Amino acid sequence: MSDVPVIVLDREGQRREREVTSGTTSADLYGDDRDVIAARVNGELVDLSRPLGPGDVVEPVLVNTQDGRAIVRHSTAHVLAQAVQQLFPEAKLGIGPPIADGFYYDFDVSRPFDPEDLERIETLMREIVKSGQRFVRRVVSDDEARAELSSEPYKLELIDEKGRAASDNNAGVEVGEGELTIYDNLDARSGSLCWKDLCRGPHVPTTRHIRAFKLMRSAGAYWRGDEHNSQLQRIYGTGWESKDALQEHLRLLEEAERRDHRKLGAELDLFSFPDEIGSGLPVFHPKGGIVRRVMEEYSRQRHEEAGYSFVNTPHITKSGLFETSGHLKWFAEDMYPPMRMEGVDYYLKPMNCPMHILIYRSRGRSYRELPLRLFEFGSVYRNEKSGVVQGLVRVRGMTQDDAHIFCTREQMPEELHNLLMFVLGLLRDYGLTDFYLELSTKPPGKAVGSDADWEEATEALRAAASLIDLDLVMDEGGGAFYGPKISVQAKDALGRTWQLSTIQVDFQLPQRFELEYQAADGTRQRPVMIHRALFGAIERFFGVLLEHYGGALPPWLAPVQVVCIPIADAHVAHLQSIAARLRAEGLRVEVDTSDERMQKKIRTAQRQKVPYMLLAGDDDVAKNAVSFRYRSGEQKNGVSIDEAVSEIVSAVLSRVQV
Ligand SMILES: [Zn+2]
Ligand SMILES: [Zn+2]
Repeated sequence: MSDVPVIVLDREGQRREREVTSGTTSADLYGDDRDVIAARVNGELVDLSRPLGPGDVVEPVLVNTQDGRAIVRHSTAHVLAQAVQQLFPEAKLGIGPPIADGFYYDFDVSRPFDPEDLERIETLMREIVKSGQRFVRRVVSDDEARAELSSEPYKLELIDEKGRAASDNNAGVEVGEGELTIYDNLDARSGSLCWKDLCRGPHVPTTRHIRAFKLMRSAGAYWRGDEHNSQLQRIYGTGWESKDALQEHLRLLEEAERRDHRKLGAELDLFSFPDEIGSGLPVFHPKGGIVRRVMEEYSRQRHEEAGYSFVNTPHITKSGLFETSGHLKWFAEDMYPPMRMEGVDYYLKPMNCPMHILIYRSRGRSYRELPLRLFEFGSVYRNEKSGVVQGLVRVRGMTQDDAHIFCTREQMPEELHNLLMFVLGLLRDYGLTDFYLELSTKPPGKAVGSDADWEEATEALRAAASLIDLDLVMDEGGGAFYGPKISVQAKDALGRTWQLSTIQVDFQLPQRFELEYQAADGTRQRPVMIHRALFGAIERFFGVLLEHYGGALPPWLAPVQVVCIPIADAHVAHLQSIAARLRAEGLRVEVDTSDERMQKKIRTAQRQKVPYMLLAGDDDVAKNAVSFRYRSGEQKNGVSIDEAVSEIVSAVLSRVQV
């Protein structure tokens, strides 16, 4: 046995040089540690059973890391497929990749799965997991794979498309660029073959490493996501490193469902999505209209203070504008189809930028006017696929709080820094506090402009971000076709991340539209353009806030801030006069004079998530006071009217949550 020199990293990342006997595997190195489910050898994820070679650098992959979870989840997908084929022998296999929080597997079956099917499948999966089947890798030639999988038409297709499939993320799970491999599931005791699948791996060593999973639902899915292909049935599951982690995930899902903005929007009478208008085109009801107006008014005030000028532009334009801007070349599939009138194609605008550019270009500009910051609540329309349209967060018609800043190259770094500070400050005022930044760079093959320009713009964004005490995450190749961007990612109350504000540097559009300004030395120079939206779309931000607050908006945003509830009719006049005082302070107040009993009125206000209830009975009338009731159910009696008014007014002015 010759000695093989390897470098071994332990769980803590400590490196050690070691000599191991030939044939040693990662399992031999880490075998005692149940949390290690795979290895990373020279940067590549592999099975623990793969023998090590001279010079290999070996790291353990832990079950509770991103890579570890993905491997366990994908291995669970194998178990799912095995169970399905055992219960539905005619089922043909599609693909089964890991996804965020879980996994799925696609099957060609004669009818969709129902909930009882899922229960039976899950029960069988638990038996398989318990039986401790081993995952064993086997290299096969293309022909061998074809022979072994002759009854699996979709796998045969993947084998034939091996080269092409490698570039397709999900199909890449089964076949990679190099050799084909089949993974056998072998019985723990007898070693006999239980099931097999074409797969690149890696997998957990045995099914016993699958600790906590649950099947969630099934849905139709086209093979390779193409509607021209056959419709398969996809089963989704979630998988975690422990029962506790699974429980916590299920709890968050339940909470997310309770906070679903579509549900809250109906319960609180804020907005709806009429079929008659079309998918992704919401209407805002009076109460939703109030929230939206308050959101916009505050934004408008802050933008005015920060030196923005407000403009307005139309919703449609002749096609020429989007030819010049490049949108028809690069963005056409995201646009609504054109309308033809008087021999000209008109488009609904997917972005406001070209119109703001025309405002800039409407006359000569001097360096003294820069930075010129043009702001518009601009409505745009996008052809989102019907499958992805979702409530307010993915719509086809939306209003952006959109601004374009025209400045000199010298002004750009400071402008970007100020902009980031402004954006974060404003988002905090709306109650979001947990952020990180993401820098999206040049998209390969889908970008205009020189490398030098891209680099300067990317560096300017990076520099602006580095001055701010937030994590910066790279999103390589994620920029728009005309420039790199920084996006502000916010975590909501449930820990979910939402991409909100984006700040984009653009040298391209100023060039395409030949924008100029006169510099101090009299020469003509080209300005830089910065695109930025803060809410992104108001509709989407509304939806995010609603879920963040679970519908209980802070007083300044609540459509009804105070409900006055009399104990009996005799107390109505007293409350009416208090309501009048609150209204004079600009507050939104209702007096509930309905015939319902007081308790019922309190429940109604509670359900509507009104921040303050003011109750009044005989005592209150006699003492010219009022009783305070909060959303928490907490109550404060005998509060003087002055005190009541000032408590509410100050909560609204300071935009706090109560
Ligand atoms: Zn696999
Ligand atoms: Zn823009």
